[in-house]
Amino acid sequence: MALPDTRQSDPAGWLQAVVDGLCELSSRDALTGPANRRQFELAMAREIDRVARAGEPALVLMIDIDHFKRVNDTHGHSAGDQVLRAVGQALHECIRPMDTVARMGGEEFAMILPNCPPAFGQTVAERVRNKVQMRPVNVAPGTDIAVTVSIGGAYAPQWVRSSAPLWIERADQQLYRAKQEGRNRACLEMPPVSHVSAEEKGLLFGHSQFQDLE
Ligand code: GH3
Ligand code: MG
Ligand code: MG
Repeated sequence: MALPDTRQSDPAGWLQAVVDGLCELSSRDALTGPANRRQFELAMAREIDRVARAGEPALVLMIDIDHFKRVNDTHGHSAGDQVLRAVGQALHECIRPMDTVARMGGEEFAMILPNCPPAFGQTVAERVRNKVQMRPVNVAPGTDIAVTVSIGGAYAPQWVRSSAPLWIERADQQLYRAKQEGRNRACLEMPPVSHVSAEEKGLLFGHSQFQDLE
């Protein structure tokens, strides 16, 4: 952590900068840069709360590097680390300010995308997949490694308080499907359709507006 030494001239400011720096360090993954798992869990809890209160559609993506073990086996562990850093950077470049990208462990990353309409989910996931694929990683002079990821995605059920493990489990099932279907692809669960009766619609919004939806 490189800090200007203002201990004498501005001790309070210096201490605050140290505290800020430590908070930043404790929330990031040391190797790849994105948030660590603990930060991810906090962001998930915040998002689950928002979805339950405001009904905003939120998407979680689980992102796993394909055949990563081969990279280590063929090019060595430090080349593997370089690939992990490059993927972390590529994912970081895909997100909006309100999104969270995290390294969950090993060669697995995750993203939380608040307020992501279901109609855009597949496009967003494809953009992430493509970003990684388009960027081979140079691990030694003349050695570029092609890297791909498989992605599984699931939406939090709107207006309902889900739990982080249940939500992640659904995205993981889709990741498993993406691997089974050949890797280098994104599979998303269809967003759950909430069944609201005509009577409930009437209670919520006034009957006449929603007659065409019945
Ligand atoms: P799949 O396409 O099915 O995901 O196969 P895979 O080879 O990517 O998955 P597997 O789980 O078999 O291997 C993951 C490897 O990631 C094994 C482990 O040694 C390696 N790994 C985990 N953490 C690190 C790390 O921090 N650095 C490096 N270089 N390798 C790591
Ligand atoms: Mg993998
Ligand atoms: Mg894995």
